Amino acid sequence: MIQCRLCGKLFPLSEMSEEHYPAHSVGNDDIVALDIVKMADSFLSSELSERIIEETDAKAVLDDYFENELTKPLFPKGRTARTLCRDCNTFLGKYDEAYLKFFNCNGDPKIIRGFQKTTRIQIIKSIYGKFLSIPEAQEESFDFVDYLKDAKQLSYSGIWSIYFVQRDYSTDLFGLKDIGTSKMRFKEGVVYELSDDKFIFNLMNFPKHSCFEMTNIFDILNNGYTIVNGVGANGGYHAQALMSRLFDGM
Ligand SMILES: [Zn+2]
Repeated sequence: MIQCRLCGKLFPLSEMSEEHYPAHSVGNDDIVALDIVKMADSFLSSELSERIIEETDAKAVLDDYFENELTKPLFPKGRTARTLCRDCNTFLGKYDEAYLKFFNCNGDPKIIRGFQKTTRIQIIKSIYGKFLSIPEAQEESFDFVDYLKDAKQLSYSGIWSIYFVQRDYSTDLFGLKDIGTSKMRFKEGVVYELSDDKFIFNLMNFPKHSCFEMTNIFDILNNGYTIVNGVGANGGYHAQALMSRLFDGM
């Protein structure tokens, strides 16, 4: 029997839904794995540069290399988990519909301003809800479950904050949008990461390090919030998430 992460009831595996994290519609389809260990090795070795010298078209060599050697099919139908019962997955699906509106307009504050407050609350709840399903967080007991279960509850005063950035060249190594999930430990607490084709989200149980510029997800309730593009030179939590997966893979 498996315990649903939202309602807490026990179900046989066959009664659980197969939910996508992030949602299927926001880029979670046909996931390839970026082999970062192999990539690091190739750049440290002379293998790649020798091939570029041998062939005249360096760009073609690199494109071919990324496509055929550094990526492998990982989740052809997208990344899914069985952490919610069917009813709860359907229930959270309503929040995901609101998030899709946010995603489709790139979180543009000028457009989000025109959304009803309930829609903006649903957007926030959609993102909190996705963290229930990530494999790294299955042992974590989150205090926002009741907030998600009660569609009418507007405010959340627990310990978990969500910050986000928009993807750009600084977040996507070689233009590859890696949507893996991670857990990072700091002396202040833990940080989970989840991302989609456009945004990278970090859920954490301590105040964000001030050196990492990110937008608090609750800021979307205010008109005139700003979206942070990329992670800047220090790489933010996202670089540490990539590094932690690199070392896990070694
Ligand atoms: Zn449930």
